[in-house]
Amino acid sequence: MFENYFFYKDGELYCENVPIKELAKEVGTPFYLYSKKAIEDKIKSYKEAFKNYPTLICYAAKSNSNLTLLKIFQKNDLGLDTVSAGEIYKGVLAGFSPEKIVYAGVGKTDREITYGIDKGIFSFNVESGQEIDVIDYLAGKLGKKANISIRVNPDVNPKTHPYISTGLRKSKFGIDIEEAVKVYKKAVKKKNLNVIGVHCHIGSQILDVSPYREAVEKVADLVFQLKKDGIELKYFDIGGGLGIKYKPEDNPPKPKDLADLILPIVKETGLQLILEPGRSLIGEAGALITQVIFTKNKKDKHFIIVDSGMNDLIRPSVYDAYHHILSVEKKNKDVVADIVGPICETGDFLALDRKIDDVERGDYLSVLSAGAYGSSMSSNYNVRPRAMEILVDGDKFFIIKEREDYDYLVEKEINPFKNLKNKI
Ligand SMILES: *Cc1c(COP(=O)(O)O)cnc(C)c1O
Repeated sequence: MFENYFFYKDGELYCENVPIKELAKEVGTPFYLYSKKAIEDKIKSYKEAFKNYPTLICYAAKSNSNLTLLKIFQKNDLGLDTVSAGEIYKGVLAGFSPEKIVYAGVGKTDREITYGIDKGIFSFNVESGQEIDVIDYLAGKLGKKANISIRVNPDVNPKTHPYISTGLRKSKFGIDIEEAVKVYKKAVKKKNLNVIGVHCHIGSQILDVSPYREAVEKVADLVFQLKKDGIELKYFDIGGGLGIKYKPEDNPPKPKDLADLILPIVKETGLQLILEPGRSLIGEAGALITQVIFTKNKKDKHFIIVDSGMNDLIRPSVYDAYHHILSVEKKNKDVVADIVGPICETGDFLALDRKIDDVERGDYLSVLSAGAYGSSMSSNYNVRPRAMEILVDGDKFFIIKEREDYDYLVEKEINPFKNLKNKI
């Protein structure tokens, strides 16, 4: 499906120049596999699209926060969009300058805010009036000034899954755009804050860019209104959300499409642009490689049971998401099957009623477009170690996260009765 990065050669699936079957035999399954070239090509297409306008592209760490992957983005001069102090921590560890880190989220704790102020991050993207008061107070306590942008909710429908629609009035994110002027007027009076920008993020997996225009126009109107009121901003952060190809027939917009649509509007404001793409930078670059444990035929259904499930990739269960799945070795025959994991939940599936090569016990499958919101949303449910992560670069591969082991899984547990030998 992604001809340059994951493709068949003589009936065998490759990631760049690495044959996946051999790799799987060597390291065991399941594992996430990423193509370095795919990531770098995506970065290039963003940079190219926005090269004629001052733009900071902040990779959204929540889509995949593996340190080696973060490092690739950092080395390519991107900034980082974070939603927790943990992500700021990983970003700094990966080498990001705090001056390129933005931080959004409706529920930043005092500890997290203090951490961000202390590190000197570029901007807190604040989501409520109360948060403004708290950041001002905590900055004062530290004797520092904090930069803030206000996240406004432009009330546009991104036409994506409800769970990842974030710019509607009823959603928990941002402040209502009608309230914004009032909130800005309050914020600029705060002694310990620099009010530097405006932020919005309307949703994720957006396949039609027109909602961006609506959102950016509404926010631009706000910028003009603020100017009239004597409040000058510097940054216009439009968030992330560009969709990717999950189904072979998907035709997602490119960074260039977004640039063509929004740059004319942003230019008029004179503000510098900030983007926060996550999925569209890393999603298509990754696959989840899993092995078939068993197949079984029930009366109405054929099941392919694999060694990876909702603990590794929860998107099918949570969002009803489609992931294209390829057999690592092409077969001559197809079946229609439910491809399910080992977790004890009916919701534990990677695909339902899917036409797929007639794979057997021991064969490998590759779940495509799993680079974003795959490993970062994985869990240890059913006491399953999280999957290994591997980066491919040409004909080389690097393990960038080891498979967790059982000792690691129990490391933090404490037995309060350990002196009471018979009690446990
Ligand atoms: C999740 C998120 C992003 C990234 O969204 P993608 O759809 O992965 O591009 C960007 N900004 C904010 C504030 C987010 O919450």
